[in-house]
Amino acid sequence: IFGESRKNSAGVNIEIESEWAPFAASVAKFAEHQWQAGPIINGEVRTETKQGFDVKAPYDRREAVGHVAFADAEIAAEAISVAEQAYPEWSTRPASERAVCIQRLADLLEDNLGELVALCHREAGKTIQDSIDEVREAVDFCRYYADQASVNFSQPKAVTGFDGNVKQISYQGRGVFTCISPWNFPLAIFLGQVSAALVAGNTVVAKPAEQTSLIAFRAIEMMLEAGVPAGAVQLVPGRGREVGAPLTSDVRITGVAFTGSTETAQAINRSLAARDCAPVPFIAETGGQNAMIVDSTALPEQVVRDVVRSSFASAGQRCSALRVLFIQQDIADRVISLIKGAMAELSVGRPQLHSTDVGPVIDLTARNKLMTHIQSLKNQAKLVAQAKLDDSCQHGDFVAPTAFEIPSIDVLKNENFGPILHIVRFKASELDQVIDQINNTGFGLTMGVHSRNERTYTHIERRARVGNCYINRDQVGAVVGVQPFGGQGLSGTGPKAGGPHYLYRFTKDVVEA
Ligand code: GLU
Repeated sequence: IFGESRKNSAGVNIEIESEWAPFAASVAKFAEHQWQAGPIINGEVRTETKQGFDVKAPYDRREAVGHVAFADAEIAAEAISVAEQAYPEWSTRPASERAVCIQRLADLLEDNLGELVALCHREAGKTIQDSIDEVREAVDFCRYYADQASVNFSQPKAVTGFDGNVKQISYQGRGVFTCISPWNFPLAIFLGQVSAALVAGNTVVAKPAEQTSLIAFRAIEMMLEAGVPAGAVQLVPGRGREVGAPLTSDVRITGVAFTGSTETAQAINRSLAARDCAPVPFIAETGGQNAMIVDSTALPEQVVRDVVRSSFASAGQRCSALRVLFIQQDIADRVISLIKGAMAELSVGRPQLHSTDVGPVIDLTARNKLMTHIQSLKNQAKLVAQAKLDDSCQHGDFVAPTAFEIPSIDVLKNENFGPILHIVRFKASELDQVIDQINNTGFGLTMGVHSRNERTYTHIERRARVGNCYINRDQVGAVVGVQPFGGQGLSGTGPKAGGPHYLYRFTKDVVEA
């Protein structure tokens, strides 16, 4: 069953009535459900803790979604002890046996699609399509890593030296991995990290983003149901400074997988370095100042479709999202006028509605930060267009998709993690300067290029220092196993998630000579 005919999860086609109707009914069952979550330590749920968090729907803060009991440093330390004790048994199971548990989890995720989609809407504010894609990506990560571990780690690998000596290399887990995941992919990235660490033979202490602990809790419940032993995976929901800090400063941690901001990655790096013990692997996927370069040979209609999706889908809350669009002066007026037209058509609102293109941002803090940026640009840049917000948005954390023309990428100091597009015009003779300016931001995650001139796009691809370069298409939605995803520089350490090298970073290789 492993290593052959692997397919990506099919999901649901919401444009086909016979698929849409039963799917919508399965989601609707959870329209008023209240979820309860807390730390899961050795398979036991802790509901009585010192602190908690009432989850409210991002699209309407009056709507209660559930309650999470938060862990503290003491619970985090206990979680590490349990995971440490469970490591010898779990790590010595054959890789294919560990993989079977993760394959079963993938099946359970698909069986519970309705509930997980409802959680994606109500806890994370995701639209219908984004919610389906979220579950599909989680399923894909589980199947892909289970498959990879089974194929690569079940048997030692024989290496023949030039002297004819044959040596066996075996791959083993490293110990206890801390997994710290973001709210923007609360199921996919959460389970991607945890399932990778587990199939590679580690035990795991997982800390989901505080905003999206409910869906992480359900995922761990399903993981236990799928047969992962209670000692092998611990869930410690909580605030970063309270539980994230001990999970990266404890000397028993043998590796960290993190996705989130560059600043937090730097803080984790410092915390790991300050420990008086062996250095350990740190896998970080962080932010970007992602650009798209459009030259005068591009097809404007296609550019506009890809720009709108890359910058405003998922309310711009993807680390891969387009932030700065460089358009060659010769076609800039035409493209900008088409972008304006497309933005006027965007429907912003409740994520459950079939017609919604853009949902809310994650919370008020995020909204305030984005609004401050919009306000400051209104004073120093040219507003190109701003989508409309209707009355249904007034109780939620919505930010209207907005586009500005700015004189240069240097105006932007930070990543703006939301539906804000910045447009810069350039002359054909300035192409190299543009690429260098993008490189000089220090980030290197995604880049989009629209050009029908092969020499131009090949040149841009070679000169740009980015992890994922997309030619003549949008630049979001990397598919597991098809577009391994991850950046360089300030955007992350690699190896790429959903790619063939990812699992190796979670292992130690031992040579039997
Ligand atoms: N893999 C996602 C994509 O290609 C982005 C992941 C992230 O935002 O962290 O859109």
